Amino acid sequence: MNSRKKLIVAIDGTVGSGKSTVAKLLAKKLNYLYIDTGAMYRAITLKVMNHNIDLNNTLEITALALNTNIKLIQQNDKLQVFLDNKNVTEDIRTPLVSRNTSPICDIHGVRKRLVALQQEMGKHGGIVMEGRDISTVVFPEN
Ligand code: C5P
Repeated sequence: MNSRKKLIVAIDGTVGSGKSTVAKLLAKKLNYLYIDTGAMYRAITLKVMNHNIDLNNTLEITALALNTNIKLIQQNDKLQVFLDNKNVTEDIRTPLVSRNTSPICDIHGVRKRLVALQQEMGKHGGIVMEGRDISTVVFPEN
């Protein structure tokens, strides 16, 4: 039996730094779950757009984020993103979602909600989590 503790591996970096490639490879090698936190911010953005909420309406967006569930599931080597149980893996990659995600990421209530979800996903270890605030905000102790 392998009694080694399953770790939380945090990979932070800027856009285009190659962190996704490293995170995916490492997760595969360790047989850990790869968690793409950018995909989670994209999923919230998609929901805001689907509800036609103004991107400046931080109160409504925060309330929406609190009522949102996001799941990341590994299927055949590919990460599938579920927003409130709907598979949105492709829908979150459109140029419009990419453009709108940036202001959504700046909303404190959204970050708070997603950080809580990320902490829940990683609480038993066995994950490689990629983002820009993982080692500083999400899992600062690890
Ligand atoms: O990496 P990706 O392009 O999918 O990230 C989408 C957006 O989410 C980017 O604007 C990125 O800076 C932001 N982001 C963030 N915090 C994270 C992960 C991504 O603000 N932990």
